[in-house]
Amino acid sequence: MSNSKLKNKSMRTTLLLWLLIPLVALTTLSTVIANHMVQVFANSFFDSFLLNSADSIAARFCAGKDGISVASLSPESTFLFSHGGQDRFFYRVLDKQGRRLSGDDIPELPVPNLSTWHKFGYTNVHRSLVRFCTVLVETSAGPVFVQVGETLNNRTILLRHIFLSILIPQVGLVCLACLSLWSGVSNGLRPLQSLNVTLRSRVKPNFLPIEIPEVPSELVAVIAALNELFDSLGNQFRLQQEFIANAAHQLRTPVTAVQTYTEHLARLELTASHRAVVDGLSLASNRLTAMVNGLLLLAQIEASPGSATEIADLTTAVAEASVGLLQRAKDRHIELIFDMPVTSAYVQSNPFQLVQLVSNLLENAIKYTPENGSVWVFVSKDFDGLISLIVEDTGPGIPLEYRDSVFQRFFRVPGAADAGSGLGLAIVKEIVTTSNAQIQLSDRFRGGSSFRITFNKCVTL
Ligand code: ADP
Repeated sequence: MSNSKLKNKSMRTTLLLWLLIPLVALTTLSTVIANHMVQVFANSFFDSFLLNSADSIAARFCAGKDGISVASLSPESTFLFSHGGQDRFFYRVLDKQGRRLSGDDIPELPVPNLSTWHKFGYTNVHRSLVRFCTVLVETSAGPVFVQVGETLNNRTILLRHIFLSILIPQVGLVCLACLSLWSGVSNGLRPLQSLNVTLRSRVKPNFLPIEIPEVPSELVAVIAALNELFDSLGNQFRLQQEFIANAAHQLRTPVTAVQTYTEHLARLELTASHRAVVDGLSLASNRLTAMVNGLLLLAQIEASPGSATEIADLTTAVAEASVGLLQRAKDRHIELIFDMPVTSAYVQSNPFQLVQLVSNLLENAIKYTPENGSVWVFVSKDFDGLISLIVEDTGPGIPLEYRDSVFQRFFRVPGAADAGSGLGLAIVKEIVTTSNAQIQLSDRFRGGSSFRITFNKCVTL
């Protein structure tokens, strides 16, 4: 069971991984690309601003006979160029030899060179990264360079805001996509779960075709193949059942004849050695009769379809089952104690099979309990409608290691006292299953066995 659970889990996980890994990878890729493009756009926007600043400074040149003079920037203009004080803005004006004509003294800025002149660049000024722009201006007094630069605070803040405004919706989208994938995969796997439930709800060999509404086309072929398999298995199973039932039925007459003759023989005057032979014959014929009857009963139970739909009174079943066993208990000096409710206790079971169930448990209890012991039969009704049958005895009990095996066909606990067929508890288990009940085997409080059968609430009453 745990194995099948594991497989279900791995199938769902595999599907989700197949869908989620590409989704997360694509989302990450699109975020990285979008972020890169935003950086390019934002940089070109700020760069054009920087270029405008250089042009504005160039407009303040005054070229004359004495050379070039540049009007200094007012604090208001510097404030404007520095994006409202968020960045440090600086500029300088150089002649073609690289001498500073005006502006700030920033030795970190590279001296422009006419041959290797470039417009924009990055450099470190006072340990801060700075974006700068160099513009060559031709004046009547010769070429002049204007260099403007700014720190990157404003760009970084803007880029961070834009990045977050891309990232947050993307993360939200991925979360929503995960939820919808989870529910999609769960819905997609639902037909498989229905198939699992349908197959597991079959309490006994049931080879009827599986019918699940709204099956996806991929599963139709699987169900068709399963149904074909069920059909051929069902035919084989039926043939086998018929063979067992026929064989048991055919054996019944000669076996009954053997038992009748054996009983007749046992009543005759016999020598001690003949008596021993007849006792052995009697034991074997009793066992044979029990085995043939048990096989026939098992075949009948297996031939009945699905769970029991009839209603039977458990107290009546206990009364009917005990009638035939009272004498046996008396012969072995076993005290039978019954504790029944005053009103009927209806359960969902075939009435004949219910008598067999009680009879097998009671017969075992009497058979395996040593003389002068006691056997209890309780029928109790719980407040929540559950009805329990408990059969306890003062016998040897069943060792822990055999508690599952005793319900298998033909299993007998090694060294079991009395002769038996090994079918009694297998029949009990079959009837418990068709009655939708549960059986529990434990030790009685002061030694002995305790069988508890809990019937579900009777739905049709
Ligand atoms: P059997 O015909 O041998 O009684 P069952 O299927 O009824 O076959 O029981 C299987 C085995 O379980 C028995 O052989 C016996 O050893 C053990 N058993 C069943 N009922 C009891 C009980 N009340 N006390 C002790 N042992 C029991």
